[in-house]
Formats: sequence, structure tokens, C-alpha cells
Amino acid sequence: MKKNDEYFKVAIIGAGKVGMTAAYALLLAGGCHEIALYGRDKGKMLGEKLDLEHAMALSHKTKISISDNLAELSGVDVFIFCAGAAQERGETRLQLAEKNIKIVDSLVPKLLEASPDALLLMVTNPVDLLTLRAGEIGGVDSKRVFGSGTLLDTARFRFHLSEFLPVHPRSIHAYVLGEHGDHSFPVISSANIGGQPLISFPEFSRKKALEAYRKARDAAYSIIESKGATYYGIGASITKIIRSVITNGQSVLSLSATIDEYYSQSGMAISVPCILGRNGIERVIKVSLDNEEQAQLAAGVATLKEVYYASRPK
Ligand code: NAD
Repeated sequence: MKKNDEYFKVAIIGAGKVGMTAAYALLLAGGCHEIALYGRDKGKMLGEKLDLEHAMALSHKTKISISDNLAELSGVDVFIFCAGAAQERGETRLQLAEKNIKIVDSLVPKLLEASPDALLLMVTNPVDLLTLRAGEIGGVDSKRVFGSGTLLDTARFRFHLSEFLPVHPRSIHAYVLGEHGDHSFPVISSANIGGQPLISFPEFSRKKALEAYRKARDAAYSIIESKGATYYGIGASITKIIRSVITNGQSVLSLSATIDEYYSQSGMAISVPCILGRNGIERVIKVSLDNEEQAQLAAGVATLKEVYYASRPK
């Protein structure tokens, strides 16, 4: 048990581009008493720690600790798992499955040994498979392990929709759900702005909405082609998720969660709208999906299951 419920500590596993961008965004947002960085290169982490500490006088008092020993990570509220291989140019997320499952298998049991009550936020790709795997290998209740899923895809979609709609992306209630990757799908049938169906807006056309989705779906490929990696969008997504946990905010976020009889789909982690609070996923929301969207959800689950059973150690 944690000694002090008022003290909120996150540990970032994997101090690479995504992990460090998340650390920086969390420091600026405030709310964490401690951000622990776990990585294998202690020399680099000393520099990362000092660099972050120099932003502290201009942001929020936060302890930055570093470690290359998982056993030292006690008292953690949320592990943010960003360790592992990232996509190379032209590579899909699903191609990372085999190597990153091995990394999850080697690290997750040790994390939970160090902090048995912690929540696990999976970010490493393929995030859906690794969310399922982390829950299985860690023996953790499915409410306590979840992935950043399509929160980022949803943010990208809303941004691209806002390029032709007259509102801020935050006020466009439109999700991308399913696999965080090439088998995601946009939920257009029930999307709305201020309760008015998106499809009834004069600026709306299905062609423009699908083009906004295509840009969101293919964003990682375009960004990786241009600068080698994506990290600002996911840094902001991680911060949004952690803020909802810290504040028991009960935000509705499209996260990767292990589903059970969700439109008849079970036994896989995939993105659906979730209510997120201090103890993890409080509820999965059954968003209204038309027949085509239900078929897309089922196809995403089938693809993920196929890759998962082919990639996990026998
Ligand atoms: P990166 O190469 O910059 O960082 C990865 C880090 O993991 C490195 O510090 C590396 O040392 C560490 N690492 C690798 N194997 C390890 C092991 N066995 N034990 C401990 N640490 C280990 O990569 P990145 O750009 O930070 O991406 C990290 C992951 O996040 C990738 O899988 C990437 O695809 C994923 N990602 C996910 C999203 C999302 O929306 N879920 C978005 C962007 C990136």
C-alpha cells in the first residue's frame, strides 16, 4: 500500500523520445509530485533530469528521480510504459509486436512487484496487443491496465475536422475507435457538435470527413517520414490521461481497454470510449455504431487477435 495517498508519483518506463516528451508535458501541466524516469542509460538520464529541473522554477514543483533499477520503483501510482522499439520509416505498428511483447514480458512483472497497486498506462506499440499482454502477464484487473489507444488518433481527427468546421477541435465530439493503427475507424454516424449531428452541418461532407480521418490514420507515417518519430501529440495525450487519474476527473477518453461483449466482441484490448478516474477505467461506454462501424470494429479485433496469437511466445 502507498504510505501517502496525497503524494502522486508516476514512473516513465523508457526515457526515449515519447517518454521524455511525456515527462516534459507532465511537468508543465502540474499535478505530479514525482516523475520517476526509468531507463538503461543513466548518463543520459542525468542530463534529462537536470534539463527538466531547470524548467521547474518556471512551472511546478515536482521531484524528478532517475533509476536504472526497476526494484527501486516503489510507491508508484501510474507506470507509463514507453519502452521498446519504435516504427522505422514505412514500418507498421503491428510489425513491432514480437519484439515489444518480449520487452513487456520482461519488465511488467518487475514493475508490479515494485508497486503492486499501480495502474499501467501502455503507450509502446502495438499498444492494443501490449495492453492485453501486460494485463495477462501481470495478472492485473482489466480496469487497472489500459493503453493510450486512439486518444491520439481522435485528437488528430478532430484537428483535421476543425480545418473545415467552424469550431474548436475540443468541441467536435467525434471519435476514432478500434485498433490504434491502420485498422482504426472514424465514428461519423453519432458524431456531433453541441448535440447537433455532424452530418447536418452545412460545411460537412462525407468526402471531407473521410479525408480528415485518412490524414489522422496516416499521420504517424507522414511524421516519421519527415522527422523520424512522433512525440508531441502522444505527450499531450499521456498528460490528458494522467490528469484524469490524478484529479479523479472521470473524463471520457478513447482508450485501449480489454472489451467484454462490446458489440459481441471480447478477449482483446481495443479502443472504445472509457470513463477514467483515480482507480483506472470505471466504465466502458457503448457508443452508438452503425452496421458498417460495427463491422470495422469486428475486423480490427480479428486482425489484432491474429497478430497476437502469431507473435506471443508459445
Ligand atoms: P525511442 O527509441 O526514442 O525510445 C524507446 C526507449 O525504450 C529507449 O530509451 C530505449 O532505450 C528503451 N528500451 C528499449 N528496450 C528496452 C528494454 N528492454 N528495457 C528498457 N528500456 C528499453 O522510441 P520512442 O519514439 O520514444 O517510441 C517509444 C514507443 O512508443 C514505440 O513503440 C513507439 O511506436 C510508441 N509510440 C506510441 C504512440 C501511441 O500513440 N501509442 C505514439 C508514438 C510512439
